[in-house]
Amino acid sequence: MAAGIIDGKAVAARVRATLKGEVAAFYAATGIQPGLATVLVGGDPASEVYVASKRKSSVAAGMADLHQHLAEDTSQAEVEELLRALAADPAVSGILLQLPVPAHLDAAALIDLIPFEKDVDGLTTMSVGLLAQNKPGLRPCTPSGVLELLDAYDVPIEGANVVVIGRSELVGRPVAQLLVNRNATVTIAHSRTRNLAEVCRGADIVVAAAGVKGLITADHIKPGATVIDVGIHRGPDGLSGDVDFGAVAEVAGLITPVPGGVGPMTIAMLLSNTLRAAELQYALALR
Ligand code: NAD
Repeated sequence: MAAGIIDGKAVAARVRATLKGEVAAFYAATGIQPGLATVLVGGDPASEVYVASKRKSSVAAGMADLHQHLAEDTSQAEVEELLRALAADPAVSGILLQLPVPAHLDAAALIDLIPFEKDVDGLTTMSVGLLAQNKPGLRPCTPSGVLELLDAYDVPIEGANVVVIGRSELVGRPVAQLLVNRNATVTIAHSRTRNLAEVCRGADIVVAAAGVKGLITADHIKPGATVIDVGIHRGPDGLSGDVDFGAVAEVAGLITPVPGGVGPMTIAMLLSNTLRAAELQYALALR
């Protein structure tokens, strides 16, 4: 295998350790303990696991766990009322509405009730606009984690040719925008892209976020390129990604494994966003 392995577990652990110190220092200086309000509607088993992990990690970082669990049949008006109360509560630094919400709810309308300074998922229309305009704000967690990994391994971004595969609101679009804001030359490929392999072969960095198992093969990769695999697929042999790891690792210069690459970064960046949110609210209150 030629490629170096990007160790997301180690980078995430470093981010979390640094953050724990920053949370303690912020608390000592301001008397404000950053608090994360995860909001779970219903009992989707996967969502329960994700939320439990976010709560545990936030407590480990020294933050307050302000979790809210609503019944599956909660009405739109009731969820809206809770979100408005959390938005107004000074103890709440960050609000995270766990997705997907039950089908009878309008997720987009709910998300947009989260004020930008508490939007730790970075998914509100306001946060998306701030990212598009390259103005300060909270950025989506997985895309931020991708940038953090590239920086941790000193991968040059400015002027680099990057192909992002996927254009979802959650991953593809924001990761492309973060990279443009760092002066990369970015191509966004998607399900209608022709000659994907040819498009990818021009890239210094490939970010695969298509949600298609093993889509990216050695044929897609320029020798020495950096390959970031955002995809997660559960199979009989455990987790795998959008990249054919064994074959691509023979060609790439650096590559993220699945598991242990981008995955661990998502919660680390959520915690980072929660502290940034607390700092932002503190700064706004001083104005
Ligand atoms: P999505 O289904 O919302 O979007 C997929 C995108 O890929 C679409 O824009 C589509 O146009 C594009 N696409 C689909 N098939 C393609 C093909 N054959 N060629 C080129 N482009 C194609 O998915 P998502 O929410 O963006 O997630 C993408 C993947 O990342 C999934 O596997 C998901 O599980 C994973 N994910 C991982 C994390 C993490 O923490 N590591 C977080 C979020 C999502």
